[in-house]
Amino acid sequence: MRLIVVGSGVVGASCAYTATCLGAEVVLVDSAAPGKATAAGAGIICPWSSRVDDPVWYAFSCAAARQYPLLVNELAALGETDVGYRQVGALALAGSELELEQTRQRILARRSEAPEIGDVRVLTGAEAQRLFPPLRPEAAAVYMDGAARVDGRLLAAALVRAAVSQGTVTRTGRAQLACRSGRAAGVTIEGELIEADAVVAATGAWTKSFLDAAGVAVAVTPQRGQIVHISLGSADTSRWPVILPGGSGHYMLAFDDSRVVAGATRETGSGFDYRVTPGGLAEVLGQALAVAPGLASGTYLETRVGFRPMGPDSRPLLGPVPGLDGLVVATGLGASGLTMGPHAGAVAARTALGVPSDVDLGPFDPLRTP
Ligand SMILES: Cc1cc2nc3c(=O)[nH]c(=O)nc-3n(C[C@H](O)[C@H](O)[C@H](O)COP(=O)(O)OP(=O)(O)OC[C@H]3O[C@@H](n4cnc5c(N)ncnc54)[C@H](O)[C@@H]3O)c2cc1C
Repeated sequence: MRLIVVGSGVVGASCAYTATCLGAEVVLVDSAAPGKATAAGAGIICPWSSRVDDPVWYAFSCAAARQYPLLVNELAALGETDVGYRQVGALALAGSELELEQTRQRILARRSEAPEIGDVRVLTGAEAQRLFPPLRPEAAAVYMDGAARVDGRLLAAALVRAAVSQGTVTRTGRAQLACRSGRAAGVTIEGELIEADAVVAATGAWTKSFLDAAGVAVAVTPQRGQIVHISLGSADTSRWPVILPGGSGHYMLAFDDSRVVAGATRETGSGFDYRVTPGGLAEVLGQALAVAPGLASGTYLETRVGFRPMGPDSRPLLGPVPGLDGLVVATGLGASGLTMGPHAGAVAARTALGVPSDVDLGPFDPLRTP
């Protein structure tokens, strides 16, 4: 079976990898649009402290987080050892004793069904600062050691390489969906038709424009995120936990190369306006320095900009499109697509190939509206 996957963000890369492993002949197309969310995303994997009040989203996110170590090991066995994934734990900061206790209770209540949350305990400000030295000393927190982080760029690139090593062919260019007799028949790239038995739209925030021409209306819009990278010289940041200050939705995390990442703006209504703005920088740095003043003497490296694919609610848009055989949509992962993306991509591959998966796609109808 021949499958075309459009979009090589984390979703499309995972889809191409899974489909190739399942024996499909895969063509993976990407237009290299500026603002690919996977290339800008922070990479926090910690659904358990989320306040998103949707059991379907939560179950899907937890399943995705649980599968990460398996995927990382699978890639390592194929020689892809550098995806920036590490279980570093997370500190959920709280503004008061009451908030601290409520956060601890909320996370503990989830642990019986999600044992991968691991150890959960309250830390004093001094203890929290020992784990993440730039923090202000009075930042008491709930620590959970199951949280992880991943480098979206490295992960997607590793998935693509692993897919290519097993037969996936990559193409660069803007794909347009080709339909014939009420089914998706392939795509055209600069006028060249590439035929296929099925097409997966893993086109992120661009999914509306990809599908509009075929008369398929999906409620996906771009939400700009600006995120700042800071170097801390020679500090060993490789095991620093993720910092979740709560409330504002801002956060920090660290990677192995003495780099701290502070994010991020959530600019609904931004369109595809690919710019770093003074307001965005002020917001991100202001929030980060208020929580972690020790970052002030670091070296500013860069600001990344990405467009989160926002659906009508927090759930992915995932599954076949009624009335257009051969088309599967896999997008709408919003602010948690680096967590859910590998899982969503794998489910999309199975769906497109007609291989059973244990996910009920009913709640993920890609044509649902707000
Ligand atoms: C600042 C920021 C911070 C984030 N932090 C986190 C986090 O901590 N944890 C988390 O879980 N998630 C996070 N996210 C969310 C996550 O990054 C996204 O949800 C996820 O990367 C979306 O992946 P995707 O594959 O759907 O889309 P993308 O990565 O955007 O990829 C879509 C691809 O499709 C291609 N494409 C589109 N149309 C066409 C076409 N017609 N032809 C060919 N190619 C096409 C584009 O070029 C693009 O490369 C963050 C996002 C941002 C912006």
